[in-house]
Amino acid sequence: MDFGISDKMKIVLEMINEFVDKELIPFEKEFLNNDFKELLPILKEKRALVKKMELWGPNHPVELGGMGLSMVEHGLVSEALGRTPIGHYVFGCQAPDAGNIEILHLYATEEQKKKYLEPLTAGDIRSCFAMTEVDMPGSNPVMLETTAIKDGKDYIINGHKWYTSGADGSNFSIVMAVTNPDAPVYAQASMIIVPTDTPGFNLVRNIPVMGHSGSDYSSHGEILFQSCRVPQSNLLGQEGMGFILAQDRLGPGRIHHCMRWLGICNRAFDLMCKRASTRKISPDGKTLSSKQIIQEWISESAAEIQAARLMTLYAAWRIDTVGAKEARDDIAMIKFVVANTMQKVIDRALQVHGGLGMTDDTILAYLYRHERAARIYDGADEVHKSSIARHILRKFK
Ligand SMILES: Cc1cc2nc3c(=O)[nH]c(=O)nc-3n(C[C@H](O)[C@H](O)[C@H](O)COP(=O)(O)OP(=O)(O)OC[C@H]3O[C@@H](n4cnc5c(N)ncnc54)[C@H](O)[C@@H]3O)c2cc1C
Repeated sequence: MDFGISDKMKIVLEMINEFVDKELIPFEKEFLNNDFKELLPILKEKRALVKKMELWGPNHPVELGGMGLSMVEHGLVSEALGRTPIGHYVFGCQAPDAGNIEILHLYATEEQKKKYLEPLTAGDIRSCFAMTEVDMPGSNPVMLETTAIKDGKDYIINGHKWYTSGADGSNFSIVMAVTNPDAPVYAQASMIIVPTDTPGFNLVRNIPVMGHSGSDYSSHGEILFQSCRVPQSNLLGQEGMGFILAQDRLGPGRIHHCMRWLGICNRAFDLMCKRASTRKISPDGKTLSSKQIIQEWISESAAEIQAARLMTLYAAWRIDTVGAKEARDDIAMIKFVVANTMQKVIDRALQVHGGLGMTDDTILAYLYRHERAARIYDGADEVHKSSIARHILRKFK
């Protein structure tokens, strides 16, 4: 196992970190105080700068104009970009598009690639991913009510989805629907590409999440599919392959998420240390950093971030060397370890800032609100824990 990086990657990371510090972190004030939709023209300019520096699409395959980085390399990029909430978006590797690009690259037909994958990787359009349903448990995804029934050359889709992140402003959605109800449970569902302007694709609302409904990329949609008709040629892969595609999408996606969360940890940690070192708490000029409990939070956070980071790089290295299937327990472990580390670190950083931490004058309150979801999406922590335990206990039977 070698996490050493090439000279080229060192330069890439330096350039990204510099861009994040100079172009993105100063822009956060506007990001926090404006509707995402209104920021699109400025974000487009920033994306153009990234393209000019040839840093666009770090995870995209080279033939699609990306950098074609390995899992470990892209993990490191994701960590650098995660220091700001707009990093991934500006570099064209934001979820859920990144995952959609991966499966379109693997499974789309030539026609689908031309129509959806190419403009998506170029950043000309956005996409969303509609799997979770309002009335069904996302933790047991085989329980799906959404159906896609054949009618002539079309599918007719009916169902009620939510948490379709970034649906607002998306050009198309990849929808998970039951196409083969009589097949074994894991072969019942398929993924189908549904352009969002198809009649019957109804964006009911952007769900208010922690006090924020947002817009465009920064939103989570509730979607009602009502007799939504799309050609059968919009099927992705084969019928009944939905869960195989979902697995392909989620494995690498978890590395991106975890490294992004580690970027968030680094940012919160730096803010905590800076505040602790400068906030005077007594007339003799002593700062918060002189207090043992604050020192304890700082050293515990440093150790926990390092442990989580090494676990994540190890999982990425396992994906690169033995594949996502073999590495599934490593991937499941980082999901809950990193999500919980992030929450502890953000919480401590916020606490160190006192009343200031609760305001939107720093990024911490935003991170506190938005990143709570990390323990729920991409599989709730408890689901990953029970899956790991099942695999471990099998050996003791
Ligand atoms: C911010 C955010 C963005 C999201 N983006 C998307 C998206 O783009 N596309 C999409 O399709 N979905 C998305 N989701 C949905 C997400 O994947 C689901 O919320 C998640 O899978 C959990 O499903 P659920 O909400 O139905 O919870 P449930 O399945 O109802 O579970 C509720 C709780 O029960 C507990 N639980 C569940 N199963 C077990 C078990 N086996 N053992 C012990 N405890 C258990 C867990 O604590 C869990 O949190 C997003 C969610 C959030 C919060």
